[in-house]
Amino acid sequence: MKILEIKNLSFSYQNQIALENINLDVDKGDFLAIIGPNGGGKSTILKLITSLLKPTKGEVKLFEKNIGYVPQNTNININFPIKVKDVVSLGFKNNLKNQEKIEDALEKVNMLDFADTKIANLSGGQRQRIFIARALFNNPPLLILDEPTASIDVKGQENIYKLLKDLNRDKTIIVVSHDISVILKYASKVAYINKNIFMHRVPELKSLDDKEHFCEVELMSMLEECSCKNS
Ligand code: ADP
Ligand code: MG
Repeated sequence: MKILEIKNLSFSYQNQIALENINLDVDKGDFLAIIGPNGGGKSTILKLITSLLKPTKGEVKLFEKNIGYVPQNTNININFPIKVKDVVSLGFKNNLKNQEKIEDALEKVNMLDFADTKIANLSGGQRQRIFIARALFNNPPLLILDEPTASIDVKGQENIYKLLKDLNRDKTIIVVSHDISVILKYASKVAYINKNIFMHRVPELKSLDDKEHFCEVELMSMLEECSCKNS
């Protein structure tokens, strides 16, 4: 069952074309990884999916209203004296059930023990898990994340991907990432976006990868060249 359908989508900032003729279907339960070069339009497509931007051409149909979104580099002053539990409910309407929802969200990201910790005292990976908890506040069936592992150490990154895989048991995941080898372990579909979109299925990519080590640059160019048989 489809949760998202993008048809003939193009988007321009003023005169600059950021995305051109994008078609994309996401099914319930998918774990879609979006990769591609800097400036390729990855953040732009997420903003179109979350309605922060409107298409210049084409359409974005989202069959789910309740979505969680973790933007790129959340611009929060990490030295601000705020506790974890208050970050999780930040911006949401206050109601009596908040406490319960905060605890559920923190539990999902394995950070319940840190509810009263100030965010300044967390590691980068822990802090990112708190931002994910915030996106989970309303228990959305669709979770969208923009480079959630940027500037996090390798172990922290792996933890975040394991968490996403876990959440994928009952949620659809769309995540922008640079960590290709990690993504190949967890994603079910990969979209390479560089103004245009090229879809890949993960098993197909894995079969190309008989070596132990992926050269990211090689793989990127390969993804762009090999035609989109599956899209
Ligand atoms: P990515 O997330 O893949 O690095 P972006 O979606 O952020 O790429 O950007 C795609 C293109 O759109 C880039 O060329 C970028 O410079 C441009 N762009 C992004 N945001 C804006 C903006 N607010 N105004 C004008 N151009 C923008
Ligand atoms: Mg981006």
